[in-house]
Amino acid sequence: MKIEVSRDELLKELGYKSLPQEALLEVIDSMLSLSEGVLEPSAVFEGIREASGVPRFLEGARLMYVGIATIGPGLEKKVSELFESGRPTEAYILDVIGSLASTKAGNALWEEIRRDAARKGVRRGKRRTPGCQGIDLETQGWILGQLGDREIPVGITTSYMMFPRKSLSFLARFGGKQKGRFSCKGCLHYSDCSLRSSKGMT
Ligand code: SF4
Repeated sequence: MKIEVSRDELLKELGYKSLPQEALLEVIDSMLSLSEGVLEPSAVFEGIREASGVPRFLEGARLMYVGIATIGPGLEKKVSELFESGRPTEAYILDVIGSLASTKAGNALWEEIRRDAARKGVRRGKRRTPGCQGIDLETQGWILGQLGDREIPVGITTSYMMFPRKSLSFLARFGGKQKGRFSCKGCLHYSDCSLRSSKGMT
């Protein structure tokens, strides 16, 4: 899996509508080049066949999947090194690149799952991640369990947070009739959610 973050995407995420001062632009460009050497994106997914005991979000679906995407541990390690060596601006910019990259890795995984579902004859689907409205964080553990011994460098803490932090797990469903409410409307994270405009989330 290849993930690239462009300068324009990064500037937008950092809140710039036009080019910043030359000195800052140089830092931004150097962090973009650095990121190319530390991003190690990977993703896995699995179709779920057994309908009993699935999270409520998946209930009633014709096709069910779980997936995890990550950018690997390298970028976070570099962010810590930059902070520790007194370079917070560089650390912050690299961290933002990591967030954009992990969202892109999640989007790429969603596209893969979507293609798999289409091959099986179902085109309309949606995804949700643990922490979304109606899906508790403990679901991270269930998702990881469904992936069995599939190789992905991701783990979860006892409080169900993923490491590396820049990783994304999700449930995906296609077809069938959904039970329960999983809309972004009314979600506690709505105002600062960077995921809700991603494909499959709407
Ligand atoms: S607003 Fe974000 S966190 Fe909340 S349900 Fe939508 S995608 Fe999930």
